Formats: sequence, structure tokens, C-alpha cells
Amino acid sequence: MREMVNRVQEVIRLDINLSQLRRNIEIISGLLKREVKFMAVVKGNAYGHGLVPIAKALEEFGCHSLGVVRIIEAIALREAGIKIPIMMLAPIMPSQAAEAVMNELTIMLDNEATAYEVNKCAKGCNKVIQVHIKVNTGLNRFGIEPDKVLEFIKNIKDNCDNLEIEGIYTHFRDPEFNKSFTDTQIAIFNELLGMLEKEGFRPPLAHAAATGGILIYPEAHYNMIRCGILLYGEEYLKGKKILPEGVLPLTSFASRVIKINEVQTGQPIGYGDKHIASRKSRIAVIAGGYGDGVSRGWKNILIHGQKVPIVNYAMDCIEADITDVEGNVQEYDEAVLVGHQGSECITWEEACYGLNSEVDEQLQRITNRVPKNYYYEK
Ligand SMILES: *Cc1c(COP(=O)(O)O)cnc(C)c1O
Repeated sequence: MREMVNRVQEVIRLDINLSQLRRNIEIISGLLKREVKFMAVVKGNAYGHGLVPIAKALEEFGCHSLGVVRIIEAIALREAGIKIPIMMLAPIMPSQAAEAVMNELTIMLDNEATAYEVNKCAKGCNKVIQVHIKVNTGLNRFGIEPDKVLEFIKNIKDNCDNLEIEGIYTHFRDPEFNKSFTDTQIAIFNELLGMLEKEGFRPPLAHAAATGGILIYPEAHYNMIRCGILLYGEEYLKGKKILPEGVLPLTSFASRVIKINEVQTGQPIGYGDKHIASRKSRIAVIAGGYGDGVSRGWKNILIHGQKVPIVNYAMDCIEADITDVEGNVQEYDEAVLVGHQGSECITWEEACYGLNSEVDEQLQRITNRVPKNYYYEK
């Protein structure tokens, strides 16, 4: 989990703009009613942006809580000194209860076995653990069926003195593309909340919206949102950006030309025969391969502010055809894999074209040997 931060000069790096992260939070918060709490989701190494530095920034920016899915992520955050609530968004195994209690995590619950085990551990060390009940409204992944929730809550209240039911929540299946399905999920959740209210068992927090819900279903903000990919400025709708004005990506994935070769017509470039020069060419070898998070199939790279085609891939480098670049490209010139250079830009979405992949998956692939350079704008 430890990030390599600026200890050595490296040929490839990920620049991460924390001023933009703060702006994104401010803009997204502006979409919410005042009482709505902001859970920032930092699972998956903060969507590839680096778990601990991003979490520390989010805590400083005033987020209410952090969401993760692996207990190892939550523990890394506590070890780094994060004090705000950390919620497990996926079920824990009963055998992980002690670890969860020790680190004072907020637990998602959808079964009795975990509830009893967490309660037992909490009692053992005289703590009260916050839990959020997960309800299945149609995603069919985790969660209790709506008609079983009241009974489940009563059972916890009766048998688990060391659990406090702080929240209840659900998760949408396809909020970006399927309005009728999402409306049905909201209706099911609302009906449940109404019933719990009437019976006097409604937990204080209710939440449903991740990025799609935040942007498209303000009626489903309740009193907390769980904001993931939007926080990082990276959500798209059928190729059309639906980000609120001013919410922008944080990253620039930058590398350098480390060698320039001249090849004749018919000569191969790089491993195998993936690319054979069809003309006399200038080829730049650029640091950055799938060992860094550059997927096979990325199409272009920016050099001298111009988009040039990548022609071959390896673990540690790629080759790009710079024959048509204006100006004299030299070794150690900067090359941008994703981000801006001059007036040109390659987005993470563009990096996904033709790959059957998505932005969050590509971001995940940035490996640990790429130093992350966090900065604030001056
Ligand atoms: C990942 C996740 C989120 C955040 O989703 P985004 O679409 O990235 O905002 C919210 N809630 C749950 C349960 C999740 O697993």
C-alpha cells in the first residue's frame, strides 16, 4: 500500500492535482442539500490515485467518511492515522470481525453470523461498532431482501448490544442507463424507509447514490452519498461527459522518450512482428509498459503536443512512430500517456477506446512502481 513518493527521480510518473480534488468536492457538495453527508470512496487504491495520500487529503477537506471494500485497505488507513469513519462497503467474513473491531471500522451488515461475531468482539473490548444494513433492491449482489429488514433490525437490537445501527443503504444497478429500473429501486427503498419510520426502527442515515445516483437522482441523496469515480473527475455517459462544470480529472500520466531509432522499410519494431515499418521511420522508445499500467491496445501518446501512434508494447516500454512529428524530438523529451500536452489531450476514456475496458479499470492498472507526485496549484 505504500506509495513511492518522490524518493528518486524516475522516468515515468503520475502527477495528481490535489487542488482539483478539492474543487471537485466543493462542486459536488454544491449539488447536495446541506444535511447530506459526503462519503468519499477510496477503494481500489483510491481508484488508482494512491490510497493514503488521497485519504489524508479527503479527511483534511472535510469529508464525513471514507468507503473501502477490503479490510486491508481500511487497516492501512488507520495505520496512516486516518480518524474519520471508514466504512466497509463489502461484507466482511465473521473471521475478520476482531480486525474490524480493533480498527473501529463501520461495518456493512447483511447477515446474522457476521453481526453476532462483530458484536462478540466488540463486547470483548468494550467498544460499540457502527453498522449499516445493506438492502437488496435489485442489484442482486449483497443485501437483505426488503421484506426481511425489519425482522433483521429487531434481532440486532435485541441481541447485539455492542452494535449501533447507524445506517441503512442500497446500491443501484444501472443508474446511468436504466431509469425505470432505478426508479423501481428507489421506490422499493422509499417504501422500506417509510415502513421502518412508522415502526420506529428507521436508522439515522440512509443512502443509495454513488456517482450515477448523485448526478441523475437528487431525490435519492437521502442524507448521505457515496462518491467514487466522480470525485476523481472521471464519469462519462455514452461517451458524452455528464460531469458538472468544473469537475475535472486529477491525473497526468507522463513519461519520457528514452531512445530514438531510425528504421528502414520492412524492419520490425519491438518484440515479434506486431509492427513492421511500411516506410523509413523514426521510432521513439518511451518508458512505460504494462508493468506500469499501460494496457496493450492504447492507441496514442502525446509528444511535442502532437498525437502519435503507439506501434508496439512491452512490460517496460512502448514504441511510437514519430516520423510525422513536427520539430526535432530528442531523447528525454516528455511524452504524455494520459493528460494534456500543449493544446492536445488524451483522456482516460480515450485510452479505453476499443479495449472493452472502462476508465476505472484502466486507472486501477497503474502499478506501484510509478511514483505518484501529489501537488497543489500555486
Ligand atoms: C464502488 C462503490 C461506490 C462508488 O461508486 P462510484 O460509481 O465510483 O461513485 C459506492 N457504493 C458502493 C457500495 C460501491 O461499491
